[in-house]
Amino acid sequence: MAPMAIASENPTTGETLRTFEAHTSAEIQAAISTAHATFQTWRTTPFAERAALMHRAADLLDQDAETIAVIMTQEMGKTLKAARAEVAKCGKGMRWYADNAEQLLADEPVDTEAVGASNAYARYAPLGVVLAVMPWNFPLWQVMRFAAPALMAGNVGLLKHASNVPQCALYLEDVFRRAGFPQGCFTTLLIGSREVESVLRDPRVRAATLTGSEAAGQSVAAICGEEIMKTVLELGGSDPFIVMPSADVERAAEVAVTARCQNNGQSCIAAKRFIVHADVYDRFARAFVERMSALVLGDPMDEATDLGPLATEQGRIDVEVMVADASQKGASILCGGKAPDGPGWFYEATVVADMTPDMVMYAEEVFGPVAGLYRVESIDEAIELGNGTNYGLGSNAWTTDPDEQDRFVRDLDSGVVTINGMTISYNDMPFGGTKRSGYGRELSGHGIREFCNIKAVWIA
Ligand code: NAP
Repeated sequence: MAPMAIASENPTTGETLRTFEAHTSAEIQAAISTAHATFQTWRTTPFAERAALMHRAADLLDQDAETIAVIMTQEMGKTLKAARAEVAKCGKGMRWYADNAEQLLADEPVDTEAVGASNAYARYAPLGVVLAVMPWNFPLWQVMRFAAPALMAGNVGLLKHASNVPQCALYLEDVFRRAGFPQGCFTTLLIGSREVESVLRDPRVRAATLTGSEAAGQSVAAICGEEIMKTVLELGGSDPFIVMPSADVERAAEVAVTARCQNNGQSCIAAKRFIVHADVYDRFARAFVERMSALVLGDPMDEATDLGPLATEQGRIDVEVMVADASQKGASILCGGKAPDGPGWFYEATVVADMTPDMVMYAEEVFGPVAGLYRVESIDEAIELGNGTNYGLGSNAWTTDPDEQDRFVRDLDSGVVTINGMTISYNDMPFGGTKRSGYGRELSGHGIREFCNIKAVWIA
């Protein structure tokens, strides 16, 4: 059977920009062989050499910033200003790992007397070929936050990117190659999700990381379970954004809009459920709806645009179905709630109130600019509702009361807790989820150690 074509389509217009032939089985095999061979030398390449190449790749990325930002906007619809910011964030991440990897992976001494050795330590050794299955929503950053630490640790990467961002996928391979990384250090496989299993079953592939939906995570983790293979999963989220009476309500409403609508509402760590104490509910709702209604929906290339299209037609259908379901079951649509006429996969910034548990969006992730608004009477109720989904990625709570802050930090069951702000990923902090949001961590020292063999060394 001929491999399927992989297409780059502009969500602003619906037009097909370019199509690419998917790699054949023989090409996939050749890529794994090269990666595996390159690992044998890359794993012993000194940190300083790896760091120099990583810095060079970051410099090239900076030089290419405008070109690649436009490609991102054309392929998946994020605003050009957001695309530029994403490129800058990648450069920062690459330089951070280039500068810190050696120290983060330094041998950890062990008390020699306790183990009866003349020398003993834990060493972080690279694992080998790692497959990264990545989503389209941050087409550069999701990949880079895997690639920068993995390559600095001495691993080599194979990328299976989302099928709707092939130009970004090819660019990533290209930038590492131009920087001087040996061939096989970082390779893009243009393949559909059905081909992922054959890559994972290859014994030369030693680990996998997947960022994406729960279903994709389950499938990859099941195969890796059979193969006894390390995985990191970064899956969906339906993060709570809790506002208590002591909060700066105006500021919370302003940040809430960004937290919900950044990346056209398609971020795993977007705040999706706005849980507001009754004492400030009306004030928050008014300020939030006013600001959501004021967002400019339009061409993502235009500097004035706040909200571009959703990345795919199916993504917009999913959002429309969820809002219609809530509306039919008695929810109030306080603003938005429609797809505008005309081309492109646009959807208005929307606030849905009077939510009840029978509505799909009460518990499920909405991957678009749609906020659910909930009224609660106490901190206990806020925490119960905040934890009341199968997800546990980020949580945001707004309160100036130190005791309440402690409660939220202790009791919110998520990988990230943010007080008086919105969830953001930082190089210096671990990032990942609990429950069905996945496991393992990216970024910081925790992220770079995920794909290492922690080797115990004992010398008589
Ligand atoms: P998706 O359909 O799961 O796609 C993500 C990647 O997985 C793509 O490369 C996709 O390939 C591949 N894939 C899909 N099904 C697969 C399968 N059965 N086996 C192997 N690979 C498979 O996800 P999406 O809907 O595009 O992305 C949005 C989801 O990602 C949301 O749930 C969001 O919250 C989550 N996300 C999480 C994080 C995080 O850090 N936790 C960050 C960003 C996004 P194809 O494109 O070829 O199907």
